[in-house]
Amino acid sequence: MYSANSKRYDTMVYNRVGQSGLKLSAFGLGFWHNFGSVDAYAQQQKIVHQAFDLGITYYDLANNYGPVPGSAESNFGKMMATDMKPYRDEMIIASKAGYDMWPGPYGNWGSRKSILASADQSLQRLGLDYVDIFYSHRPDPETPVTETALALDQLVHQGKALYIGISNYSGTQTKQIIDIFEALKTPFIIHQPRYNLFNRQVETDLFPVLQAHHKAAVCFSPLSQGLLTDKYLKGIPQDSRAAKSTSPFLQPKQVESTLKTVRALNNIAQKRGQTLAEMALAWNLRRPEIACVLVGASRPAQLQDDVKALDHLEFSKTELAEIDQILEQ
Ligand code: NDP
Repeated sequence: MYSANSKRYDTMVYNRVGQSGLKLSAFGLGFWHNFGSVDAYAQQQKIVHQAFDLGITYYDLANNYGPVPGSAESNFGKMMATDMKPYRDEMIIASKAGYDMWPGPYGNWGSRKSILASADQSLQRLGLDYVDIFYSHRPDPETPVTETALALDQLVHQGKALYIGISNYSGTQTKQIIDIFEALKTPFIIHQPRYNLFNRQVETDLFPVLQAHHKAAVCFSPLSQGLLTDKYLKGIPQDSRAAKSTSPFLQPKQVESTLKTVRALNNIAQKRGQTLAEMALAWNLRRPEIACVLVGASRPAQLQDDVKALDHLEFSKTELAEIDQILEQ
């Protein structure tokens, strides 16, 4: 039986989410990969236990995470019913609706029908009465944004979500839905964008909107799915995401096309006395908008390495300029 490390809160950093009452651990664990029905359950348990023992309080799921879709929630639900059950009130558990989940016109996007049905399905798979954060996973170009906002607001009134988030909305779309949430007094607190050394568009598009409204970001793929680590410097390991047939989102050609930049970044990380993963995560956490970086992990040791980023978060102006120069090449 799992018993959590009694020192789990000693070294983790907890950041306030905008001006809300909620704090998140600077690292969150993502369930997009490695928690499906194709992955070994015992390994999943080890990763979750490791995360919790490191003081990670944020667990990020979505209706469609697997494969098969839904299986990440079912697997995590199994843990929440057993070994993790005593710790429910120490955990922030999030889910999302918006990407393809079930066949037909109601299994995706942001209609009221889709969001409310999907949230019920997620709670059933998770075996929980409520999630801490429920996200609209992507903006829906066809559904009026007020309809999506009202459906999310209803989840809060039904006691099925404590806080609301959005993901993949542009700066303009974010401003639009924030205005509606403010009128409704919805506890909307957080945006989940992609942000990493290779993807910086949100710095100019989204972050100014979040700043103006005192909202926070929890950013996904901070390691660009593993590209921003030293794991691909000597070829593509068999057990890596780029090699896995169950994971079509990272292809060997992306590894090849980024290798030169990754080598140059790795040199800077070494000069800082960090692994590239640690530096990439510290670089994300330098932004005041970012409350939490959402990492994925295929094994517990990766999380141990990732949180070491906290040992060296500061960047000199020269280091930042060197990094910018590498990224511009
Ligand atoms: P990362 O960029 O952190 O990539 C995770 C992968 O990097 C791991 O699976 C592992 O790859 C590798 N890795 C992690 N740590 C190390 C280390 N120390 N050394 C070497 N390799 C390491 O994040 P993800 O792309 O997985 O995204 C994180 C989470 O963000 C998702 O699980 C999900 O919750 C969320 N997300 C949300 C999206 C949205 O639209 N809202 C979209 C995408 C993600 P390997 O498996 O090869 O070992």
